[in-house]
Amino acid sequence: MLLAHGRHEEAGVYKDGPPVPRIDPERCREFTMSGREVDYFMPVVCTDRGQHKRMLLTSARRELDGTHGMNHALQWFAPPMGKDAEPNSLTSKHSYIFRCPKCPRTPQVKADVWWQLVDKAVLARLDAIDISLLP
Ligand SMILES: [Zn+2]
Repeated sequence: MLLAHGRHEEAGVYKDGPPVPRIDPERCREFTMSGREVDYFMPVVCTDRGQHKRMLLTSARRELDGTHGMNHALQWFAPPMGKDAEPNSLTSKHSYIFRCPKCPRTPQVKADVWWQLVDKAVLARLDAIDISLLP
């Protein structure tokens, strides 16, 4: 299982098996505050397409085992909630829904599409992902 549903911190679930390759082997090594090495952190921001100052919403990370997670769930974004997604709430079964406090944007991205985007942003060596530029 890729995501721990309904938890405030999406923890990477370590699976057994050989280590997976890093997305960008040239990238500097990065560590969590507790000292655990991760493959990458990618800041997730909103600028309302340049209309407001860069607002940091969360930080997307890929663990060394290939699993993904983002901190501050349920503050500026809702993770995919599976069966717990409630109609008319700002949650979805399969998508991340971002909610910027500085503008009315609430982009939704399917979880698999989102992590492909984040991995691509890492490969492209972007310094952040701006959710206001999502299609
Ligand atoms: Zn915004």
